[in-house]
Amino acid sequence: MKEITKHYSNGEVTIVWKNTLCIHSGKCFQGLPTVFHPLTLPWITPEESDTEKIIAQVKQCPSEALSYFTNDEEHG
Ligand code: SF4
Repeated sequence: MKEITKHYSNGEVTIVWKNTLCIHSGKCFQGLPTVFHPLTLPWITPEESDTEKIIAQVKQCPSEALSYFTNDEEHG
């Protein structure tokens, strides 16, 4: 499988997703279905929730598929 890294941002936090690391556990879309919904594209829509909830959910990912950085970190 070709490795793809995707970024999804709500302006405050950016979610990073790596397809080859995803083990399809379902944790993300069971925990925060407004943001993670694999059947509709784009499958991650961070603008549908707030930054704290997104970070908490990303940390629940059992693989390294999901990670995040805050946009503050990125710029400085
Ligand atoms: S929680 Fe992580 S491993 Fe599970 S489906 Fe979501 S991205 Fe993939």
